[in-house]
Amino acid sequence: MALEKYFLNYNDTIASISTAWGEAGIAIVRLSGPQALDFAEKVFKGIKPLKETPPRYMRNGFLVNENGDHLDEVLGVWFRAPKSYTGEDVVEIHCHGGLLVASKCLELLIDQGARLAEPGEFTQRAFLNGRIDLTQAEAVLGIIRAKSDEALRAAARTLRGELSIKIAEIYDLLLNLSANLEANLDFPEEDIPFLPSDEVLKKLNQISTNLKRLISRCNVGKVLRDGIKVAIVGRPNVGKSSIFNALLEEARAIVTPIPGTTRDVIEGMIVYKGIPIIFMDTAGLRATNDVVETIGVSMAQKAFREADLRLWIIDGSEALTQDDINLAEELKTHPHIIAINKADIPQIVSPDDLREIAPDSEITVLSAFDKLAIEKLKERLVNKLIKHSAINEGFNATARQIEMLKNVLSCVDNAIASINMGEPEELVASNLYEARYYLDRLLGRNFDEDLIHAIFSQFCVGK
Ligand code: GDP
Repeated sequence: MALEKYFLNYNDTIASISTAWGEAGIAIVRLSGPQALDFAEKVFKGIKPLKETPPRYMRNGFLVNENGDHLDEVLGVWFRAPKSYTGEDVVEIHCHGGLLVASKCLELLIDQGARLAEPGEFTQRAFLNGRIDLTQAEAVLGIIRAKSDEALRAAARTLRGELSIKIAEIYDLLLNLSANLEANLDFPEEDIPFLPSDEVLKKLNQISTNLKRLISRCNVGKVLRDGIKVAIVGRPNVGKSSIFNALLEEARAIVTPIPGTTRDVIEGMIVYKGIPIIFMDTAGLRATNDVVETIGVSMAQKAFREADLRLWIIDGSEALTQDDINLAEELKTHPHIIAINKADIPQIVSPDDLREIAPDSEITVLSAFDKLAIEKLKERLVNKLIKHSAINEGFNATARQIEMLKNVLSCVDNAIASINMGEPEELVASNLYEARYYLDRLLGRNFDEDLIHAIFSQFCVGK
């Protein structure tokens, strides 16, 4: 692949401060590219030059400016291409972690001709040089962003290449099937052993099952990293803010007995069993003439649409209204859980009453003031999206990766349907071809600049 076509500056030497900005014990300035060692030699003075130090060995020395002044006592280490993070020659200078000294070191390297690295450019080079594939590159971001042990483990699993191996296995199975189908299509007169269609079907069904399992493992990883967004919805005054506060164990939202007081969408996050849950307390969803409340209602609708899950609160002490019936209708096509609140006071609405308008919904009865019930509610919300036993099998995955896998699955399922309907083999072959195209995109064997930019621009500088 002609990388130069996409990346004009692919052959220059980049530099940046790779540690976080601020005062610390040490700061690391990193260089990568063909001239990394030459540039570093000019600013690093040890008993011996870095060139004469074996790769991966730390050499003690001084950071010097163009006049030879000693600016800091530092350590230098170099990695010879291709055995480095980026696959190119890499040098690291470990200086003391002052704001000025690390910047000074970087400045001196830029003066020598290094270019300031773009966000994620080191990892991008690792990808372009074939050190890692795209799923692994994205896992690096997963590691940096992990907010819980479970998320970190899922990212590490992907970085180790476990996801890539699974994807490659599926790719190879598809490739074998395609090869067989296409050989028969291209050379029908030759006597190529033909896989009987029930054999092809069996293999495709197996691939489809593997893909579904992979998608669910990726979903777990996505949930671990990005968390679950839960919109708390329902009529005004049913206890949404009270439940929101109880879930967050703090008084964030204003709780009042006057209907329609939550006019904004208020967000709060907890980490429950390693899973970040972002709760959004919304304005009551009801028809209103109040201008400010109307804005709140439209924001509530947006939160409703964007959430992974909706928690519909009902006041069990009051009769259901037309607003409830409308909401039940809307919720039919969106994942949700219903909580009948205010169980501590006499109830008018029972789960059976609700089943009449929401027959397939999961319903729980609780009180916002009951701590145990609120804990159980958290468990229910998480279980609704992922099985707890699956948490230890998650793969770090981004929305992009999950979408690609779903595309692959739908191609494979289309191929299965084609065979079942006795459609021409060309159709089956073209579905399998398309499936492999998506797998290629997933691993980054097939990419364009937009895709690469979209992925690596999320990284921090220095990574
Ligand atoms: P929202 O408008 O849906 O956010 O409702 P609020 O959380 O502001 O609550 C409205 C009223 O219901 C307040 O007076 C709360 O104290 C009361 N409330 C909320 N949850 C419960 C509950 O579980 N039991 C009882 N008895 N009152 C509750």
